[in-house]
Amino acid sequence: MNNLSGEIMLSLEYQKPSLTIKEVKLLLSESFGIVPKKLAPLNGDRSQNFLLQVDRGRKLVLKISSDFDREESLDFENQVLLFLNQKLTGYRFPRPVPGRNEKLITSFSAADKKIYRARIFEFIEGEPLAAVKDIDLKLWQEVGTFLARIDLALKDFYHPGQKRLLPWDVRNVLFSRERLKYISDPSRRRKLDYCLLQYETLVQAEDYRLRRQVIYGDANEHNFLLAPDRKSVHRIIGLIDFGDITESYLAAEPSLSLTYALMLIGPKEGEKEKVASKILGAYHSLNPLRKEELDVIFYLILARLVISLTMAAWRRQVEPRNAYMRISEEPGWKLLDYLLSENPEKWRRLFYRSCGFESENPDRQKSKLLTFRKAHVSEALSLSYRKPLHIIRGAGQFLFDSEGRSYLDCVNNVCHLGHCHPSVARAVARQMTVLNTNTRYLYDQMAAYIEKLLSHFPPKFTHCFLVNSGSEANDLALRLARNFSGGSELLVIDGAYHGNLTSLVEISPYKFDGPGGKGAPPFVHKIPTPDPYRGLYRGRSEETAEKYAAEVKKMVSSLLSENKRLAGIIAESMMSCAGQIIFPPRFLNKAFEIVKSEGGVTIADEVQVGFGRPGYFFWGFESQEASPDIVTLGKPIGNGHPLGAVITTEEIARRFVTGMEYFNTFGGNPVSCAAGLAVLKAIEEENLQENARLVGDYFLRGLKELQKKHSLIGDVRGLGLFLGVELVKDRGTRQPAAAEARAIIEKMKDRGILLSTDGPFDNVIKIKPAIIFTKSDADRVVENLDLVLRAYD
Ligand code: PMP
Repeated sequence: MNNLSGEIMLSLEYQKPSLTIKEVKLLLSESFGIVPKKLAPLNGDRSQNFLLQVDRGRKLVLKISSDFDREESLDFENQVLLFLNQKLTGYRFPRPVPGRNEKLITSFSAADKKIYRARIFEFIEGEPLAAVKDIDLKLWQEVGTFLARIDLALKDFYHPGQKRLLPWDVRNVLFSRERLKYISDPSRRRKLDYCLLQYETLVQAEDYRLRRQVIYGDANEHNFLLAPDRKSVHRIIGLIDFGDITESYLAAEPSLSLTYALMLIGPKEGEKEKVASKILGAYHSLNPLRKEELDVIFYLILARLVISLTMAAWRRQVEPRNAYMRISEEPGWKLLDYLLSENPEKWRRLFYRSCGFESENPDRQKSKLLTFRKAHVSEALSLSYRKPLHIIRGAGQFLFDSEGRSYLDCVNNVCHLGHCHPSVARAVARQMTVLNTNTRYLYDQMAAYIEKLLSHFPPKFTHCFLVNSGSEANDLALRLARNFSGGSELLVIDGAYHGNLTSLVEISPYKFDGPGGKGAPPFVHKIPTPDPYRGLYRGRSEETAEKYAAEVKKMVSSLLSENKRLAGIIAESMMSCAGQIIFPPRFLNKAFEIVKSEGGVTIADEVQVGFGRPGYFFWGFESQEASPDIVTLGKPIGNGHPLGAVITTEEIARRFVTGMEYFNTFGGNPVSCAAGLAVLKAIEEENLQENARLVGDYFLRGLKELQKKHSLIGDVRGLGLFLGVELVKDRGTRQPAAAEARAIIEKMKDRGILLSTDGPFDNVIKIKPAIIFTKSDADRVVENLDLVLRAYD
């Protein structure tokens, strides 16, 4: 009989029996003929357990299971225990004791009329591994060896009950998705979902390559029993708690023991690696694992943590006072955070090494790629860093290279929500599986996305064109502006970059005045960079903004006096390539109003800074109280999926209907829309704009403290998670310290932190991390920068 509701089955949740002591005593005397001298409750997950003292100091364990564990399943547990006691005579396993009916399982109906099943086992004396203070490597090796012996013994064991559906079996980790709702912190929910996605893609998809058999499945430190040997050395003598024994992946067995071992090991550098290597090596030398099994161990560890953490969160709701169920909660979160910052490739290599397998030589892999790139990819496409990185994975705010190193990514504002954000990855994969087509059909995704995107703008913005990149967005914005205004003269801000198309290199001083540039074409007119630190006018007051606005006015007047007609102005709301520049207050508002008053169209390029990065605002133009006619979007919009957008008013969009069709094959396809929608939802659900504000302010304060200590820092500026640190040789002359900036970037990279430099003198350290960045990430950057800057004091 199974009285579990569909929902409970779905989430693999169950109700643990809670019989009264009176009921338990009645059961013991009626069904087992036992009147215990002492009866003490024991911890248990799905079963209600008691330690019984009976005659002559004999101890027994009573286990009462609910309907979740069916008869066949409990019989399987009993048979395994009898089998192991017989097969591994050097060790002890709880031996089931028959009841009055001579059976090992006694069914009974309690006062609540539900059916329960009781079993009694012999108690095993011993000290749990958990009680050992400093578990040494020899003992960890013994753990590996012991588990390998068990799995070898169980290799050909078969019982129909072994095919049971247990919440703790890593193969059922996807049921945890149902339990994510119990995790209240959205960033924690995201991390768990990330692990689930890794499991789906990297383990489940490889399912057919993974061996299965009955495994013990719960190798945590509370279940190994130890006793001193003749030389008083503590040795493993037995194992208890077989409630999770099941048919599963063989690789899950060592993975589970690694999970619990890693939770126990402190932060000492290299210690976790040593222990993991010992356990796995010992296991492998008796029960050899295959490469494809070692490939998934990292993800099986993550999966086990997901189960443990979601079960604990669920338990917190149903049994707020049961601390046992949450025993691994804090160490679990700690380990999860640690592993998510770790390079999975480093661990794969370690697992291979522990088992005597060779890994590819990363230097050789890298040099092959470099040679290929040199031969077939233009050098105009430059690589970052003196020694380029061969990046193979990303997770959250971290990037991982082929050599096993992890990097805190502080510059990738494309992966706005972190690398491989689970919601976005899922949305894209799902849509790619269902439909992808072009904009000449009606489809739901476009309407849903545009509606959501426009909801983030002031009501005058009613129209949206979806394109494939920030460059495409700016190119289209130029067409819209020229078409609407009938003019061709364009104002740009000195130092600005707007994209890689011919039309945009022409309007980007960063390019046309830079190396290989050919200067401004006649229709492009530069106005000075409103840089409060180094610009023509200095200071962060509105007066400074007025002075820069006067420059705009001057330029417009001079063009008009030559009878030229304005197309408009394009401006980044906060300038990135120009050196992380935050304009003086309301500059953009004033500049746009001047251009508008003379019939020009105003374009805010939000490709770098939009989508909550400014923290206090969703868009950069809002921080300037500016009211553009067109807003262009890119980079963060799809969290790495190529997408861009042009947002404008009905008037401007309508005037663009000239008879010439605007067709864009990929722009706004259903997959891109799914990516864009997932990004917006995640920003809301995870409250990431607020995170950008809190962490951004904290980061800025930390950097300003550094400025007090190190004279190389001339200026620190930023809004939300868009920050810049300008380095100077001399604070008086403000002579740019470009070589120093580049050297510092290299040194920070060696410390596992990715930054870059920019600005007209290449002396500004750019900081624009994913907006999931945390205060401790900010601390790490500040602390390391502090150490690196000491060399320049
Ligand atoms: N506008 C700005 C402000 C940019 O920084 C960039 C890219 N760095 C672009 C537009 C062009 O975007 P994409 O390279 O994605 O086409």
